[in-house]
Amino acid sequence: MNNTENKNGKNGIDTKGISLAQSASYNKLKQNNSDWAAKRVQEDPEFFTKLAQGQSPEVLWIGCSDSRVPANEVTGTKPGEVFVHRNIANVCVHSDMNMLSVLDYAVNVLKVKHVIVAGHYGCGGVAAALTSKQFGIIDNWLRHIKDVYRLHANELDRITDEKAKVNRLVELNVTEQVYNLCKTSIIQNAWMNRTDLEVHGWVIDLSSGLIKDLGVSASNPHKLGYVYEFDNETVAAN
Ligand SMILES: [Zn+2]
Repeated sequence: MNNTENKNGKNGIDTKGISLAQSASYNKLKQNNSDWAAKRVQEDPEFFTKLAQGQSPEVLWIGCSDSRVPANEVTGTKPGEVFVHRNIANVCVHSDMNMLSVLDYAVNVLKVKHVIVAGHYGCGGVAAALTSKQFGIIDNWLRHIKDVYRLHANELDRITDEKAKVNRLVELNVTEQVYNLCKTSIIQNAWMNRTDLEVHGWVIDLSSGLIKDLGVSASNPHKLGYVYEFDNETVAAN
């Protein structure tokens, strides 16, 4: 039996082994969706007609996959207002085609004005990177945060309170990821052509819901240093 033809002769995956509790939580999502859609139409009969016409968000949010930090809720924005990319511990890796594709589309097609790296205190990914434990394949992803730890080990290893140590690395990680974004050819080329693009670093405090702006915003490449700042022209490599 394959997953397009089950015992009942119907198309779809065989879900017979699923418990009542499991299907209840799943069905609740569908019910919530239909309630949500009905409420939106009640508030504004044209809501979905307008939404279906297209998007013009001014913000790209690069946040953690953690279920407690949804971009729209945290910023009080509606569907259509924030373009979103999330991964474990909001890491921006210059060879990650997923992140680069989102960034390029947001900056060059949607023309967002703000790119925000949003971490959060108590981040499990950051906490894991501070330990020597193995967690599986994710260890290779967390290596990027270990690299940030290595850069700031002098400061971090002086912090004796474990929570405080994690939270400081959360801030340093966001700052480093802002720097990583600014180093990309995508951001640097955009800055050569426009003056209305800023990259910011935020940390969300889960205990208050409030955002801390780390004050690391950048709107030009001048602080990148000579190693990373590109010239204003492309040279074909051969
Ligand atoms: Zn996290």
